[in-house]
Amino acid sequence: MTDETRVRDDIARLSRSLFERGFSVGSAGNISAAVDDGILMTPTNSSLGSIDPGRISKLSRDGKHISGDRPSKEVFLHNAFYETRPQTGAVVHLHSTYATALSCLSDVDPENCIPPLTPYVVMRVGQVRLVPYVRPGDERAGDLIRDLKGQHAAVLLANHGPVVTGKDLTSAVYAAEELEETAKLLVLLRGAPVRLLSQANVDELKTVFGA
Ligand SMILES: [Zn+2]
Repeated sequence: MTDETRVRDDIARLSRSLFERGFSVGSAGNISAAVDDGILMTPTNSSLGSIDPGRISKLSRDGKHISGDRPSKEVFLHNAFYETRPQTGAVVHLHSTYATALSCLSDVDPENCIPPLTPYVVMRVGQVRLVPYVRPGDERAGDLIRDLKGQHAAVLLANHGPVVTGKDLTSAVYAAEELEETAKLLVLLRGAPVRLLSQANVDELKTVFGA
């Protein structure tokens, strides 16, 4: 089995897992992963619940469609991360419920919209920026991500949902799940007197785990 065959199978397996656990519904959400000679991407109008590994879109590193079905219309969100964060091996974009709920609140801190509630979100996701709203399909969202110059592994698109990266597909999926679960805690705890991790706690995680 070639590496690309394995990555295609992993995209289909992890996409289905996310769909079956309610992290995406309908045709929402898209996933990509880097391979030696390009990027594999879930096709446009496809459900994450039924991705066919053989029909996954393949794009060249400069964004040209090489093979498979046409890629997701949100491919530019993914390309912005591959271009600005060389360590990016995979990108997961979801409209998952609680992260999207947070993205609709007018009082989140746009510089740090997922505060350090647990060590796991600090280690897996890091500081998350809010990207201002643009309509679906507006490629300016890619430019807004490029403007962050690769400093963030994840962003929340305002009134839309999260885009999360990782060094490989499994890391990106785990980070997207961690972001969603933390967003759920933040929504559940709204109005309660929350004790966040201190800056010293966050610094310790960065030192010990390289977060
Ligand atoms: Zn979207």
